[in-house]
Amino acid sequence: MFKKTLIAASLAMTAAYSIAAPAPVQETAPVAEEAPQVVVFKNVNVFNGTENKLYKNHSVVVTDNKITAITKGEADIPEDAQVIDGEGRTLMPALIDAHMHLTIPKGLLGTDDMRWTEIAIHGQEFAEMYLDMGFGTIRDVGGADGSWTDMERDGRLKEVPRIYASGAPIAPIGSHADVGLQSRRLTDSPQNLEILNIMSNANGVEEIKEQARYNYRQGAQFTKVFQSGGVSSKFDPWQYNSYLDDEMKAAVAIAESYGSYVATHVYSEQAMHQALDLGVKTLEHGFMFKAEMADKFNKEGAFIATNLTAFSPDLATIPVVQDPLIQKKLASAQAAFGSYQKEMKAAEDAGFDRRAFNVDCVGVADTCAKQIAHEIWLNADMFGNFSALRAMTSTSGRISAELMQPWIDPYSDAKLGVIEVGAYADILLIDGNPLEDITLVGGRDTWFGEDNDAKKDGSHLTEMDLIMKDGKIFKNTL
Ligand SMILES: [Zn+2]
Repeated sequence: MFKKTLIAASLAMTAAYSIAAPAPVQETAPVAEEAPQVVVFKNVNVFNGTENKLYKNHSVVVTDNKITAITKGEADIPEDAQVIDGEGRTLMPALIDAHMHLTIPKGLLGTDDMRWTEIAIHGQEFAEMYLDMGFGTIRDVGGADGSWTDMERDGRLKEVPRIYASGAPIAPIGSHADVGLQSRRLTDSPQNLEILNIMSNANGVEEIKEQARYNYRQGAQFTKVFQSGGVSSKFDPWQYNSYLDDEMKAAVAIAESYGSYVATHVYSEQAMHQALDLGVKTLEHGFMFKAEMADKFNKEGAFIATNLTAFSPDLATIPVVQDPLIQKKLASAQAAFGSYQKEMKAAEDAGFDRRAFNVDCVGVADTCAKQIAHEIWLNADMFGNFSALRAMTSTSGRISAELMQPWIDPYSDAKLGVIEVGAYADILLIDGNPLEDITLVGGRDTWFGEDNDAKKDGSHLTEMDLIMKDGKIFKNTL
């Protein structure tokens, strides 16, 4: 390869020079240890992330961190290439979670009482769990700042996925992000999560602009807003709108000035229309989606990311919703959200392809590994394996590609979530066809229970034989 030839030539020159005049001996070890620049996967069936089919008996060539060739049958194999015989396994894009939180291990109220070191070390373990489960990219929609992205890119965080981060969600007093006591006044000193910029308290247009700009200054790449209330929180009916039109517009204006977009926590039909009408581009949760909204999503170029565990009867048993008032909120929410599956199925059957993957677990790694597994299974159970796989790969990958300018997108060099020439080499090899069996990518029909436990060696439900991110192999059992 070109780079190796260059190193060999420079070593030869060094050798010639050292004969003429003794010079410091050059270390040769780095050349011997240098990882192959080219990896050829041969004898694989390709799921490309966008089509409901496998391309049988193909070869996929990875050069550095990108896919550089996909051919039927054998590929040309360069001399220095590492060759991996897939023996008929499926090669597919690494998964993407478009809605998760690195820095909320104990729910909002519990995390508010944690120290920053605990939160940070939790975040690292959490990110490592994601890569272990085959995720090549995660999108933190509330809490993590841009340092997580920076540390992934410069290698200080070693075995983690790519990380998009929004910084603190923008939300006013009394909202889903308000972690203070009920007796709190506007002028009270901020809560710990506000000091750490994991949550915010931004009231009115000017404070919204200031908080949005502060998040970008801290390295965030998009803006998250809490527009509806929530279920597990105290002061906010899930039905209400926390921000008026002029406040939402302020958030959108700042995001657009940075070449980016607003993601909004939104439940009600009215608030979903408000978001789409005001230029918000990703609707998080969107539980009251109606098939007739699909045209508006298409026209506005917007996406929806819904956590389907919200519809599970098991939800009523998790610790953060045990307060009787919260149980009441939960019951009313689940009753109101009952048509989601039917409406989304109708939209997808008519060609709607803007539903991304959302787990939204606020817990520790072992607990959330189970929730991820169940969210994968629910996606396939409700909408079919192809819809589930597309949501977890190409659709979640389109969010950054279609909504961000290259200067704000940390991973703008190539596509995410697809197997295509020119795409990032974020790749899984699995033994079987995930279009027929969703458990091959970690799906589990139980949320809680024995057969859903993390493995004894600390790994998480990983049947995957090989996990590659950015051209580097993190797991290989072949
Ligand atoms: Zn969330």
